[in-house]
Amino acid sequence: MQTHGYAAYSKDTPLAPYRFERRALRPNDVAMEILYCGVCHSDLHTARNDWGKSQYPIVPGHEIVGRVTRVGAGVTRYKVGDHVAVGCMVDSCMECDLCQRGEEQLCRKGCTGTYGGRDRITQEPTQGGYSKHLVVREEFCLRVPEGLDLARAAPLLCAGITTWSPLRTWQAGPGSRVAVIGLGGLGHMAVKLAVGLGADVTVLSRSKDKEADALALGAHRLLVSADAEAMRAASSSFDLIIDTVPVRHSLKPYLPLLEIDGTLVLVGQIGPLDELSTVPLLFGRRRIAGSPIGGIRETQEMLDFCAERNILPDCEMIRMEQINEAFERMEKADVRYRFVIDMASLADSD
Ligand code: NAP
Ligand code: ZN
Repeated sequence: MQTHGYAAYSKDTPLAPYRFERRALRPNDVAMEILYCGVCHSDLHTARNDWGKSQYPIVPGHEIVGRVTRVGAGVTRYKVGDHVAVGCMVDSCMECDLCQRGEEQLCRKGCTGTYGGRDRITQEPTQGGYSKHLVVREEFCLRVPEGLDLARAAPLLCAGITTWSPLRTWQAGPGSRVAVIGLGGLGHMAVKLAVGLGADVTVLSRSKDKEADALALGAHRLLVSADAEAMRAASSSFDLIIDTVPVRHSLKPYLPLLEIDGTLVLVGQIGPLDELSTVPLLFGRRRIAGSPIGGIRETQEMLDFCAERNILPDCEMIRMEQINEAFERMEKADVRYRFVIDMASLADSD
């Protein structure tokens, strides 16, 4: 199937129109027309080759909401016209203990990324959601629950699940004190979901600029991470800290904020951090962990939870051709709080 979208052609050129093929439907495949696609900071890292493994041209986008247009002969869960969603992965081995447990994101053989991966059968590069159509095996499609605003649902597929998964793993809920570092796409979802789960929530931001927003999102307070005195006063006061900072940074200011046995979960930076002292870890029996996205079952659980509670990201809708401007703004943390591309804006001539 011929389709088209926007691709990065190199690390230092703007995204531009790109025509490419989606695979012919296999028996367990669902074909969809993409309606909306969220803009994740990972898309920007990939376009700019921040992780050193981008192969161009690459079509980013892994917060996808679409409408089913065709299904393979063996598909049982979806039919033409259904609203479906796809997140950061499109396949895994489906056989290892982790896949069997519904943790496909941790597949022993490595899950297949929605973009920048390789199809497990043909080895062709996978291409993401900044495009008109997508073909995905049905096991990696999510059902968009009735009543969930389609345009605003898209960011749940990465920002939502990536923060939901650690909140669930570390059992955030009534009585737990959660802090979120960085109020961006992931951070604002972490706030909404943690509040939805009943936790006491603090935003740790670099300045006071986002304080009113943090409170409006449901957070109980905003703490300025540059304010040494306020940070000292908050020592040992969080059970769980979710760190969404997208660049190399130091954990030094944050670790003392953890309660004894508390955990700081890194979901942002991939790669080195600044040098770390073991002192706050040893003397507080504190932990540092990491967490990648979440499994398919857990993603559906999160979508259903959001539909039930009417929890939705705060989105700024953009047209496809505004993507380069959106990337520039995201780099400056100037997004409140997720860009979503309305795919109807992708011109047929692109
Ligand atoms: P984003 O919307 O750009 O938000 C990042 C936030 O971090 C900013 O709003 C800002 O918050 C803070 N920040 C930005 N630059 C900073 C700096 N130099 N120092 C300290 N804080 C800074 O990004 P996102 O889409 O939420 O993604 C965040 C990170 O998570 C990215 O690196 C992305 O690749 C990664 N990610 C990981 C997974 C996973 O599976 N673990 C999934 C998706 C994304 P303040 O203005 O409040 O300080
Ligand atoms: Zn993402």
